[in-house]
Amino acid sequence: MQYQIQRDRMVQDQLVARGIKDTRVLQAMRKTPRHLFVEEAFAMRAYGDYPLLIGEKQTISQPFMVGYMVEALALNNKDRVLEIGTGSGYQTAVLAEICQKVFSIERIKSLAKKARQLLESFGYHNFQIRIDDGSIGWAEKAPFEAIIVSAAAPQVPAPLCEQLAEGGRLVIPVGTEKSQTLRLIYKKNGEIFEEEKFGCTFVKLIGKYGWEI
Ligand code: SAH
Repeated sequence: MQYQIQRDRMVQDQLVARGIKDTRVLQAMRKTPRHLFVEEAFAMRAYGDYPLLIGEKQTISQPFMVGYMVEALALNNKDRVLEIGTGSGYQTAVLAEICQKVFSIERIKSLAKKARQLLESFGYHNFQIRIDDGSIGWAEKAPFEAIIVSAAAPQVPAPLCEQLAEGGRLVIPVGTEKSQTLRLIYKKNGEIFEEEKFGCTFVKLIGKYGWEI
């Protein structure tokens, strides 16, 4: 109950107050128990306005960033979504609430396993987590109506644009290792269009179309 109050407050003060409007996103974030996705010692701070450590030197994104990126995907309940960087699985849960199926890729085995267990324990069945380099996408499951990358890339990985369905949307932070710009990319009549949103800082995307370790 205490956490529900914190969640409602997080949605109001950090998301609604900053312009997030998609009711499905707001509802999913009101529901998802973020405190169970962070390290236990951080549970009390899980609804704060910042990213937090989740182990393996990785982070769970700030709530606003998750809300903004998921809203930018303009999802509906028929969409199949590719997520790169499962991390804690928090964003996977938010996506699973909204879309038909989430295909999520995480390169660190321990994080992938933990996220999978947690999501199963909440009763989600519409997700699949694979341990691999997500910078090359997931060709066998393509095309995707939406792709969300939660790690910073030096450039937009070409396979992700290829795996985007007609009319599909892709959000990804692109830039240097220290700072990036969030890009919204979409495919219209087979052509790729890009919009730059705002500055951000994510952990590195490590892989073939990302950085070397
Ligand atoms: N959305 C996550 C945050 C993930 S942090 C959450 O809600 O918790 C970024 C994650 O991307 C890290 O777990 C990192 O291991 C992973 N990552 C980095 N490069 C990757 C790659 N090439 N493929 C898949 N996952 C990758």
